[in-house]
Amino acid sequence: MATETPTPDPRLLMPWHELPRQRFADSLARGQVAHALLLHGEGGLHKVHLARQLGQALLCQQPLSGVACGKCHSCLLCQAGNHPDWTEVQPVESAIIRIDQIRELSARLAMRPQIAQRQVALLWPAEQMNSASSNALLKTLEEPSADTHLLLVSDRAGRLSATIRSRCQRMPISGSKAPETVVSVARMAGVSQAQALAALELSGGDPELGLHWLAPEHWSAIVALAAQLVDLALGRLDANAFAGGYRKEGVALLQRWSRLIALMLGSDAVSSAAFKPLVELAGAVRYSTLLPLATQLERARGMIGSGVREDLMVYDLALRWSEAFITQGRRRES
Ligand SMILES: [Zn+2]
Repeated sequence: MATETPTPDPRLLMPWHELPRQRFADSLARGQVAHALLLHGEGGLHKVHLARQLGQALLCQQPLSGVACGKCHSCLLCQAGNHPDWTEVQPVESAIIRIDQIRELSARLAMRPQIAQRQVALLWPAEQMNSASSNALLKTLEEPSADTHLLLVSDRAGRLSATIRSRCQRMPISGSKAPETVVSVARMAGVSQAQALAALELSGGDPELGLHWLAPEHWSAIVALAAQLVDLALGRLDANAFAGGYRKEGVALLQRWSRLIALMLGSDAVSSAAFKPLVELAGAVRYSTLLPLATQLERARGMIGSGVREDLMVYDLALRWSEAFITQGRRRES
């Protein structure tokens, strides 16, 4: 059975989900979210995490840009894990999603939502349905009720039956660094293939985002930031000096920083010389240390423009960053 452990903070917005989330947000705003969405892509991209967030946004009374508010009655029930209009189906006591699980799901989806405007079900890993389960699910997909949404998540969408796939709107979650993508991005940006590969690693395999990072001003800024974060972590740069260098650049800084943390959290090996020292630092701390830092960064991004003093916020984040690495370093030594 595919697992995507460890479980991250449910509120954590992962940068490589940004593009699919934006597309989802557009459909949600237009009231045109498909009844069946298939989130597919390589393992390790936290697709289930994204699906749960999208599901919560569908149930939320006041979602903003495709993200659940986290405060309404529906959101509180989701966070407590007992929203009556939310169902999650995954293999129980075997590797297979059984037909009786699908029948139970279909019966449930045939009912009216209890408190939200719609019912939402998450089914994963979708490729673990056998043919009987697939056929049973197909009936639900062919005659969806107006107020139901089914989110399928799969690492191996090719194993799903063609009829199931054709009934779902695809939502690819990308982590691709295929050679042809590297070549075309290098050509479009007029950079070496090594640099294009580094940019694709940085963008989670998203060529559009990769090209954004390759613009000279963005590239030099993020490479410099990566080096500074290493210096901060190793005690060669103090938080005050770091924050002093970013007096009026809060938004751009946090966006770059977030991106670099995503790179550190990624499961892929990083080959670029510019980011390798930073990614190697990730091996020095626990996953459970990096995730809270990522969450703090996302929160800080949300606070920019709300009157908070950016320089103090950047200083605070820099301090937390260096402390996280120094503490872990000490723990390893003792
Ligand atoms: Zn809400």
